[in-house]
Amino acid sequence: MKLSKALYFGDFVAIPLAIVLLAAAAIYQQGLEGAGLWLAAFIAGLLVWTFVEYAVHRWVYHAIPFFEKFHDAHHDDPTALIGVPSFVSSGLILAVFFAPLLFTVGIVLAGGFASGALLGYAGYMLVHHASHHWTLKPGSMLYRARIQHMAHHYHNTPGNYGVVTSFWDHVFSTNVDRRRRAAET
Ligand SMILES: [Zn+2]
Ligand SMILES: [Zn+2]
Repeated sequence: MKLSKALYFGDFVAIPLAIVLLAAAAIYQQGLEGAGLWLAAFIAGLLVWTFVEYAVHRWVYHAIPFFEKFHDAHHDDPTALIGVPSFVSSGLILAVFFAPLLFTVGIVLAGGFASGALLGYAGYMLVHHASHHWTLKPGSMLYRARIQHMAHHYHNTPGNYGVVTSFWDHVFSTNVDRRRRAAET
């Protein structure tokens, strides 16, 4: 979906705000005693996010026709401000990562877990945007991420579904690297 600048970049305002609010709610509930638990849940949320990012990109955006249609628009016009409106994406993340935990294990773990996932999503947005829009220094982490993502866009073999990390592409053998590209073309 083509978005206005406010909706496209809205996550970068909404997500830090949500994380601060979730941390404040945890402190209000348990004081600083819950900080360790919150942090552990935060790291877990971040790690789980990397898999969600891979899974959604591979098995939803490149597999289910309804979503494929929207994602194809990004592949057709990679520098257009195309994406999911921030309130939808962040809302979905809260619905999946926060709500079920809130009613089972409480605000500290739920808030930490959701914050990790939200930060992971913001990281994905940033790395993806930088890959298509920024001038990047060869050798930097973002440059490597861009090379990976460009192979996703322009390589004949489908692969490199992970944007923030190529870890899951290695796990599921969907990593398309430059050497393989050179060997195939
Ligand atoms: Zn794609
Ligand atoms: Zn892209």
